[in-house]
Amino acid sequence: MSATTYNPFENAQIQFDAIAENLGLESGMRELLRQPMKEIHFTIPVKMDDGSTKVFQAFRIRHNNARGPGKGGIRFHPHETADTVRALAMWMTWKCAVVDIPLGGGKGGIICDPQTLSKSELEKLCRGYVRKIWNQIGHEIDIPAPDMGSNAQCMLWMMDEYETIVAGHYPGVITGKPVGMGGSLGRTEATGFGVIYTLKDLLRYMNIPIGTTTASIQGFGNVAEYAAQMYTELGGKVIAVSCWNQADKTAYTFKKSGGCNIAELVKIKDSFGSIDKTKAQSLGYEILHGDDWIKQEVDILIPAALENQITPAVFPNISKKVKVICEAANGPTTPDCDKLIKERGIEMLPDFLCNAGGVTCSYFEQVQCNMNYFWDKAEVLEKLEYSMTKAFRAVYDLAKEKNIYMRDAAYIIAINRVANAVKLRGWA
Ligand code: GLU
Repeated sequence: MSATTYNPFENAQIQFDAIAENLGLESGMRELLRQPMKEIHFTIPVKMDDGSTKVFQAFRIRHNNARGPGKGGIRFHPHETADTVRALAMWMTWKCAVVDIPLGGGKGGIICDPQTLSKSELEKLCRGYVRKIWNQIGHEIDIPAPDMGSNAQCMLWMMDEYETIVAGHYPGVITGKPVGMGGSLGRTEATGFGVIYTLKDLLRYMNIPIGTTTASIQGFGNVAEYAAQMYTELGGKVIAVSCWNQADKTAYTFKKSGGCNIAELVKIKDSFGSIDKTKAQSLGYEILHGDDWIKQEVDILIPAALENQITPAVFPNISKKVKVICEAANGPTTPDCDKLIKERGIEMLPDFLCNAGGVTCSYFEQVQCNMNYFWDKAEVLEKLEYSMTKAFRAVYDLAKEKNIYMRDAAYIIAINRVANAVKLRGWA
């Protein structure tokens, strides 16, 4: 699970540069789009439960707002860096553009291990984040959301802090809030379900019935859980799930050749996605090394954890049976490995298309907040599937028409849309 040798921001720039060259973008446009427009680096002092003060480093980075206000989650992770947040912010710009929602790209990060914080320390951290950047966020400026390590409760504390500072009701300042408090039904499931909406469509085009397929998943947080749930409901079999174990500070792969029971695994995981080893063993799961998820003889690999997980070093471990890589995580594949995946002819569902369900539903959440009228879950999910399918088909059609890799097709669509907005505004 090492992510140390690759820099995600360099990866994001390598991907952008290749497409910018292909599209013949002018140098000013390239310079503007290959870096963030705004960065805020700050510290958050938190009075810990033991009376000491701990100072946390934090970021909010806006990559581009030509198509609308910045949008993107806040990741709480011990290995967060400015460059990871820069990459994630840039990918958010392409993500919002590929699904054609009127938003730009942004991302936040706090260097912390949320699993080691008490509830009150976490609340202080969330409120402290907003106290430092409240005048740089807002429904017309930049709208945060949950990401790895943060959740609906964190978003609500953040919204409450913002509303306290500005003295009013502004539910559109943040998305991913709890249902009943300005949140949208379906938002919790949206990213994972969105992953499977695109996978389902791709398999249909490949003439492979989803019910005959098997998958191996890396990660068991929010995205993986709901992707696994929908995939198994459609008849697919999840053979293995790999996740981090906080107690042992290591990752394990939980395997059941006959297929994992997702509901059963959910019952024995904590809120951060760690599965209880002893309980899993007693339920008949084989416990393998954390990296073994990628070696499984399955049709589909679903990386749903961190960036830089599928590299040339691990590529030889991918079984010849694998037909699709479905990137539920952001940036799980390194650009040098994309070449190998292309050569082997594995279909790639690229991250910023495949996992765009979360931000699409965040957009729906904002629309509902603006109207102060909330849709039922079926309506949200129907709109979500429509948006995801429409975006997927545009990418797939372009990839087939030009005989190119799906990541490149997604980039062409997204970069063209953003570059157009930049041009129309007269920025470049
Ligand atoms: N953090 C999610 C992502 O990476 C969702 C962002 C949002 O809802 O704004 O797409």
